[in-house]
Amino acid sequence: MKFCSQCGAPVIRKVPPGDNLPRFVCEACQAIHYQNPKIVAGCIPEWNGSILLCRRAIEPRSGLWTFPAGFMEIGESAEQAALRETLEEAHADVEIASLYAVFSLPHISQVYMVFRGLMRSPDFKAGAESLEVQLFAPETIPWGLLAFPVIQETLARYVRDLEQGCFMLHVGSVMPPMR
Ligand code: ZN
Repeated sequence: MKFCSQCGAPVIRKVPPGDNLPRFVCEACQAIHYQNPKIVAGCIPEWNGSILLCRRAIEPRSGLWTFPAGFMEIGESAEQAALRETLEEAHADVEIASLYAVFSLPHISQVYMVFRGLMRSPDFKAGAESLEVQLFAPETIPWGLLAFPVIQETLARYVRDLEQGCFMLHVGSVMPPMR
């Protein structure tokens, strides 16, 4: 951030009185601009034991596979965001079954909230942000072609739960891949 969104003056980075972290502070109008993690809402759409994945048509990671997910919009709930992303990216109509995973990605200040979604019909097609959309049986998931570590982590746990016949809520952190 370079300029104050309230008055347009340049901001500086400093620890405000009574705080313990540096913030963007406007010295003209004294506004403190807090920055906080963003929530990504996602959905694993299920149909007859298969799950619906989308091949990304946009950067980053264009050409790789993911379940529908995206940043929440102002004014919507996490479930609404997951449903909206599923409709936009895969044109699939799902009913939210349960919260499946909450993964923090502290290195990029994101939190993923992933729901299980029951498809109301086997109808789907690629949305504007997808190259293609396809149902995958667990043994056909394209593990080497998944878009992000958090997608890999979520689906790995999902497949393990599926094999054990018991879905539980997963909470944890996903770190950046080692270089
Ligand atoms: Zn200002």
